[in-house]
Amino acid sequence: MTDQTDSNGGERETVSVPKEIEFPRLLDFYELQTDDHTKIHEFYDNLRDGRLTTTQCTDCDATHYPPRIVCPECTGDDLEYVDLPHEGELFAFSEVRGGLPMGLAEHDVPFVVGVVDLGPVKLSARIDDASYGDLEIGDPVTLKIVEIDGPTDEERVFYRFEPVNRNGGDSE
Ligand SMILES: [Zn+2]
Repeated sequence: MTDQTDSNGGERETVSVPKEIEFPRLLDFYELQTDDHTKIHEFYDNLRDGRLTTTQCTDCDATHYPPRIVCPECTGDDLEYVDLPHEGELFAFSEVRGGLPMGLAEHDVPFVVGVVDLGPVKLSARIDDASYGDLEIGDPVTLKIVEIDGPTDEERVFYRFEPVNRNGGDSE
């Protein structure tokens, strides 16, 4: 017995798929940063100005990272942007050798990712200008702001960290 109807006896609904997928955007690793795309655009505005900031709740004083639009501690939404230190300590780190996130190419590996303890918050970030073998937990690191090239016309930035250049060197 052939049956062109679904299990409920009604006609089947037709759904369509997009004719093409915007491939470059799909491979874009970074979020769009203007106020019509994200409610945390102020974080990116500040970063573009050279400041690493995050939100702090004016009701309960909790400092969040990443920046929020509602306080996860007290659900208040009266938040203000506060400056974070630009220097911190490497709390943990690892090296990415394969299994790349979307949008990265083979020539990007290996690279180091770490958790940086800034005091008020810990955040994860790429650690530039160092290889895994050069680093130790507790190493001082400093903010490095990078500009993102394409695929949108937006001027975008993101943060990374790099080891603090210790004067005099520490060659063994
Ligand atoms: Zn709060």
